[in-house]
Amino acid sequence: MLAGKVPVGSAVPPRNTVASGKGSKVLVVNAGSSSIKFKIFTAETLLPGAAGLFDRIGDTANCVLKASVPEDGGKPKKFEKKIPAKDHLSAMQDIMSFIDENVSSTFASEVCAVGHRIVHGLDISQPKLLTPDVINCIQEAAVFAPLHNPPHLQGIYAAQKVFGPNVPQVAVFDTAFHQTMPPESYVYGLPYDMYEKHKIRRYGFHGTSHKYLVEQAAAMLGKDVSQTNVITCHLGNGSSVAAVRGGLCVDTSMGMTPLEGLLMGTRCGDIDPAVVLYIQNQLGLSASDTDTLLNKKSGLLGLTGSNDLRTVIEGAAKGEPRSQLGLAMFVQRVRKYIGAYMAVLDGQVDAVVFSAGIGENSALVRGLICDHLQAMGITVDTGANAAAVGGKQADISGPGARIRTLVIPTDEELSIAQQTLQVVRGAALAA
Ligand code: ADP
Repeated sequence: MLAGKVPVGSAVPPRNTVASGKGSKVLVVNAGSSSIKFKIFTAETLLPGAAGLFDRIGDTANCVLKASVPEDGGKPKKFEKKIPAKDHLSAMQDIMSFIDENVSSTFASEVCAVGHRIVHGLDISQPKLLTPDVINCIQEAAVFAPLHNPPHLQGIYAAQKVFGPNVPQVAVFDTAFHQTMPPESYVYGLPYDMYEKHKIRRYGFHGTSHKYLVEQAAAMLGKDVSQTNVITCHLGNGSSVAAVRGGLCVDTSMGMTPLEGLLMGTRCGDIDPAVVLYIQNQLGLSASDTDTLLNKKSGLLGLTGSNDLRTVIEGAAKGEPRSQLGLAMFVQRVRKYIGAYMAVLDGQVDAVVFSAGIGENSALVRGLICDHLQAMGITVDTGANAAAVGGKQADISGPGARIRTLVIPTDEELSIAQQTLQVVRGAALAA
């Protein structure tokens, strides 16, 4: 039987059974400009079920739904189907038809909550039930996340239409975890009006991932989250570092937008802001071309011709100078942030955590980042580091390390499902 499938003839669970949790499902949705990612979780156990990606929405000749459905005792069944979807609503309806056919014909009535990943939530510090006020905030924050928040709203409207008013929907914000930063971390050195009137400040991103990593790190260290100090390094195509004291974020490398901080796949990360003025005033690039240059043509791509660190590593091994430079710059930037956050945390750090595509898979990059940091209490065991690839949780600290070095695969969807359930259960209790 397929996971999540309700046996024929069994009672259909009532809608919104989240308080009891039994038989209920949480649907996690991540809507992008031309895609919807989804993943189903069992509310009671938080075990993952079917997951998929509807890609190229709007490009009706090429839209494709790719999905993976777990099967008892076997490999997950893979699906790939061309389905013309003109917009997010038709894509959401097609996803539901797919789930009806391949997972459970009563799925719509089993869903107890829908959790949406939202990139920017301004100063909202917690996941929220979707109310008109929260939707307004997501709209307002679209000025800082123009490529993300508008499509998230389309995903929300589509899910509201498909599930109706009885299924609670929750917004989980990438920015929320960083709301505990003190002003000295989040205010920029600009006239204070810029912060007060225009909301220009550091918000930070990847918060769902950093939060998950802190919780997992605390469990690995056998400590309460509220007693755990860590530096979490989410190193993927987009990368960020967070300094966490007592489970709460006190600083992070991304800023008002995800452009600031580390060198990334296509984003430049930290640069002198005067470079932007020079590019516009002296080289004559428009604001929009500058935006594209900094966000989409810079970083590893701009330096080496590839945004994929695997390609850069291969190039560096062959002796290509630009690839060697790109790799060295990537590593150097992470080291600088780890050093800075050691100071932010007064040197009281339990662990440095590596995660996401690069952090979970590249023993080479982890080794380079941690090289010669013995004076800071960080050493890595070569064998344990080499073995920690492909989504394994591991403590790769070397002998005598004062600060643990941990590899923790991130799971943003699981965290969104957990946070969604907390909100909905909280609301049910308060009612
Ligand atoms: P995204 O931000 O798109 O979610 P991911 O977390 O999937 O990104 O990370 C993508 C990055 O991880 C790419 O730069 C890719 O090259 C890198 N990566 C994946 N596996 C490895 C590996 N074995 N060695 C080095 N880099 C890797």
